[in-house]
Amino acid sequence: MAPPTFEFDFQTTGGNFTGKVAFSAGLFINNEFVESVEGSTVELVNPTDGKPLGHVSAATDKDIDIAVKAAREAFEQRWGTKLAALESLNNGKTVFVSRFVDVQGFVNTLRYYAGWADKIHGKTIEVNDAKFAYTRHEPIGVVGQIIPWNFPLGMFAWKISPALATGNTIVIKPSEWTPLTAIRVAALAKEAGFPKGVLNVVTGLGSVAGAAISSHMDIDKVAFTGSTLVGRHILKSAAASNLKKVTLELGGKSPSIIFDDADLDKAVSWAAFGIVFNHGQTCSAGSRVYVHEKIYDEFLLKFTEKLKSLKVGNPFAPDTFQGPQASETQFKRIMGYIESGKKDGATLHLGGSQHGTEGFFIEPTIFTDVKPDMKIMREEIFGPVVVVAKFSNDEEAVRLANDTLYGLAAGIFTKDISRAIDVSNKLKSGTVWINEFNKVEVTLPFGGYKQSGIGRELGEYALQNYTEVKAVHINLSATPPI
Ligand code: NAP
Ligand code: MG
Repeated sequence: MAPPTFEFDFQTTGGNFTGKVAFSAGLFINNEFVESVEGSTVELVNPTDGKPLGHVSAATDKDIDIAVKAAREAFEQRWGTKLAALESLNNGKTVFVSRFVDVQGFVNTLRYYAGWADKIHGKTIEVNDAKFAYTRHEPIGVVGQIIPWNFPLGMFAWKISPALATGNTIVIKPSEWTPLTAIRVAALAKEAGFPKGVLNVVTGLGSVAGAAISSHMDIDKVAFTGSTLVGRHILKSAAASNLKKVTLELGGKSPSIIFDDADLDKAVSWAAFGIVFNHGQTCSAGSRVYVHEKIYDEFLLKFTEKLKSLKVGNPFAPDTFQGPQASETQFKRIMGYIESGKKDGATLHLGGSQHGTEGFFIEPTIFTDVKPDMKIMREEIFGPVVVVAKFSNDEEAVRLANDTLYGLAAGIFTKDISRAIDVSNKLKSGTVWINEFNKVEVTLPFGGYKQSGIGRELGEYALQNYTEVKAVHINLSATPPI
């Protein structure tokens, strides 16, 4: 049987309200209106005239059970948890990182930019007595976005949130290796009532689908996160096609500087987190650690112990810190870098091998005695491989830290705030962490100096990536010049 329907005709009330209302008055369980199991109803009375008003369903304990079961199932299958599991399944990252970095970051980023949506406006600029002017921050149009596999959901949110808040429409391509969570989120967006065509998710190969985005004549802007190599392609094809606007978030070889007055245990923990967080597959990974010579030996001892203490294994186990690298390609690439370090004469101080015998696990690896021109000191490895080197004074620390083509992030560990700020000012780096590492905040801009990219994501700054500024001149009293 169908649930009861409530119907009322306001003509009969004799007031200002006119017209009829009619809607299902069943029990709302699992997003549907249903009749109660026993078909019982409650009669409503109009308090104005004491006459019957209509009927709604009356639940009994059987209906309550059904509703509770639906609520329980929905609770147990929280979409956040499911997305986290899907992320770990596809990427190999630990469930802990999936939940508290990717899913939480995804939600926080969307929420943060949703707050911006009604606070984007231009300025009024009074030019002179004869002219008044204002600026408008308008959406750019159709935005193409290309993202990597290391934080599939996180990068998805960093890209779509500011673009949507500023009124653009989107064609986004996830990495060919990790498209699952983006596909799920697209379905959730539809469920949430997204208008047609605003968010389009196209899975596929970078060389085909990605290249088609960057060279498209009707895409107004492309935002890319990935390797510096592909970033160059994007810039070239944007130039060769319609000169679409380009922002790039690229790689890094980020330094940590540990001064001799640092809180050593904390510095050890942050530096370790700096390199092995997300299995070293982090663009801002602290892959070069420079330690003051006075504390070098003690630091290295503690740092080694710390890395040894972290559990490598099944990403679904709650106590695992490090899961497998995301793919065999990455695994081989990282092992290739480890071989090159050994061949070039650096000292393999810790790790250096596959962890276990199956999957793409790599032991946390430390190299020492690394020369500035060795590949492992210069190139992004994108795995749990770190070089530790010495310095003897602040000036040398700054010089070594800046001796790179990249400029994404850097860390400084000291208790001396003047030194921290002085050194921070001298680092050519988009982010400087003082006494922490790899802590990204949705409110703060993130991006690179030098070959680490063009533009900034996150915070208010990211809005600029997705708006055109229009200057509107209003002539108040000037007469035409001719
Ligand atoms: P990638 O090879 O550069 O790929 C990134 C994205 O670009 C993928 O979706 C890829 O598709 C696509 N792509 C590949 N070739 C393309 C082409 N010719 N034209 C257009 N798109 C193309 O990078 P990745 O290996 O996925 O990710 C690792 C790199 O990303 C690292 O270097 C890391 O530092 C960098 N990264 C930087 C940041 C940052 O914020 N700065 C954040 C995360 C990662 P396929 O999946 O099919 O290859
Ligand atoms: Mg690739």
